[in-house]
Amino acid sequence: MSLNQKNILVTGGAGFIGCHLVKHLVNKYPNYTIVNFDKLTYAGDLANVAEIELSSNYRFVKGDICDYDFVLETFRRYEITDVMHLAAESHVDRSISNPFEFIQTNVMGTACLLQAASISWGEGYSREDHMFYHVSTDEVYGSLGAEGLFHETTAYDPRSPYSASKASSDHLVRAYFHTYKLPVVISNCSNNYGPNQYPEKLIPVVIKQIIDMRPIPVYGKGENIRDWLFVQDHVEAIDLIFHKGQVGETYNVGGHNEWQNIELVHKMCAILDKKLERKQGESASLISYVTDRKGHDLRYAIDSTKLQAELGWKPSMQFDEKLEMTIDWYLNYFNA
Ligand code: NAD
Repeated sequence: MSLNQKNILVTGGAGFIGCHLVKHLVNKYPNYTIVNFDKLTYAGDLANVAEIELSSNYRFVKGDICDYDFVLETFRRYEITDVMHLAAESHVDRSISNPFEFIQTNVMGTACLLQAASISWGEGYSREDHMFYHVSTDEVYGSLGAEGLFHETTAYDPRSPYSASKASSDHLVRAYFHTYKLPVVISNCSNNYGPNQYPEKLIPVVIKQIIDMRPIPVYGKGENIRDWLFVQDHVEAIDLIFHKGQVGETYNVGGHNEWQNIELVHKMCAILDKKLERKQGESASLISYVTDRKGHDLRYAIDSTKLQAELGWKPSMQFDEKLEMTIDWYLNYFNA
């Protein structure tokens, strides 16, 4: 296979971030074949990738990353050269009520993919031949106080079953690098926002509740802080790290865009009052404080200096514009 040809297995390509990544790769790299491997859980929807389903360099395989034999067969059938691994159970609240499903998918599923890659690729390959890219979260680092940032060297301190399962998968990826010399790279990213996110996460939930004039649930006092990154910025970071990142390295990806949950909700209320032609303050009157999430991490904030300095990535920094674009997408999606 020539250098500019690859058969990339993208897991979770029917989900939120995965669908943007798959569309980006299919359109930008006609020489690559993109194999979207997804179980289509409640969070996956082929409508998210409908616009590229007929592209000649796109394939879809319905499958479970925990089904090792089928994963291995898929590697052989499509002569997979590279993996971009995004499939996961991803919602923290669900991990609190059903941790085993998270451990199964996020830990065992990652182990199956690593083993299949290691068996299929053997040893002695170069970085150009193969790459196993693991997409992870900043939540593996735990929780910050009012000051400070997560660096690539920050010790892991996961606090929820979700973040613990992602931390376990990160460790497995590094173990395959050290033990079997599998060429791997990991990125840990902050909260993404944008179109196509399943409406259980904060931004789409708030939009839906406002449209329906129903209470907007805000955990605790709404003081928890998250760093928000537009999903396309994340996709571009993945593209860059996949092609230029150093094997065995970790890169933090973040938006330098911290907001308290309550500030973000107020911002969205103001935008939606205008768009839905409601009285100023009408949407904010729906805010309803609810019992805090168990073990709710106070603050996440990422230092992405390494990615910016070494690979030249930059987040787009147009939060108001991108948030409004996102809200417009959901207004259309919810037929409002
Ligand atoms: P998502 O929940 O929207 O999508 C997950 C996808 O994985 C779905 O299409 C689902 O069908 C698929 N999937 C789940 N279990 C599977 C299995 N056993 N086999 C095959 N496919 C399966 O998730 P997302 O928000 O797009 O997140 C993608 C990745 O990025 C995850 O690994 C997540 O941990 C990571 N991440 C997400 C964020 C964020 O803000 N959303 C931030 C940092 C990192």
